[in-house]
Amino acid sequence: MSSAADRRRNVLQTIVSAAKLAGREPADVTLVAVSKTRTIGEIRELIEAGQRDFGESRVQEALDKWPVLLAAHDDLTLHCIGRLQSNKAAEAVRLFGTIHSLDRLSLLESLVREAEKANRCPGVYVQVNIGEEEQKGGCAIDEVASLVSAVRQSPLPLEGLMCIPPLGLEPSPFFALLAKIAGENGVAGLSMGMSADYRAAVTLGSTAVRVGTALFAD
Ligand SMILES: *Cc1c(COP(=O)(O)O)cnc(C)c1O
Repeated sequence: MSSAADRRRNVLQTIVSAAKLAGREPADVTLVAVSKTRTIGEIRELIEAGQRDFGESRVQEALDKWPVLLAAHDDLTLHCIGRLQSNKAAEAVRLFGTIHSLDRLSLLESLVREAEKANRCPGVYVQVNIGEEEQKGGCAIDEVASLVSAVRQSPLPLEGLMCIPPLGLEPSPFFALLAKIAGENGVAGLSMGMSADYRAAVTLGSTAVRVGTALFAD
């Protein structure tokens, strides 16, 4: 059985080799450890191994697990990577340093309102429904420009664009398309790549990979 530290070292090595292959700086890629469904004990092992960025999908689960960990380590960043309802905006703004799932103007408005109340401005990624799938989070491709522009006029820092490619299809064309849309909008950050495909995502420009299984399970 591998340790959390071994698994993290392997993932970081893969990121370094993929970045070098693409002529990129490995330091430009943030590894976000996706800890949804994982216990506080499992998360602690990764913190002890040096991991500082973590992602959760659900606000309630994050509220159950993270206050104690954040209180013990003031250099951790928690990332919201799941669908966010506007009625959870207040909790989200207090808990998350970065939100990867901004996909509509009404959610931006709720986040801004709560950010001003809490005096805390999380960075946001605009999530794009890159495969134009029904039932999938993310804004339509033709809405990206207006949502990006709304974030730029808000107090929330724009971190970049995020996508989750359709299940069962080769992800690389979708990563390349997200990178192209980012370029057209003058956006630098790209949140793309999960356990099965983060290597390809890094070669195509990802600046934040969201990796769960490869870090937490053998
Ligand atoms: C669960 C999840 C991940 C991590 O998936 P793994 O395949 O376990 O690496 C990444 N991004 C999102 C949005 C997720 O929901």
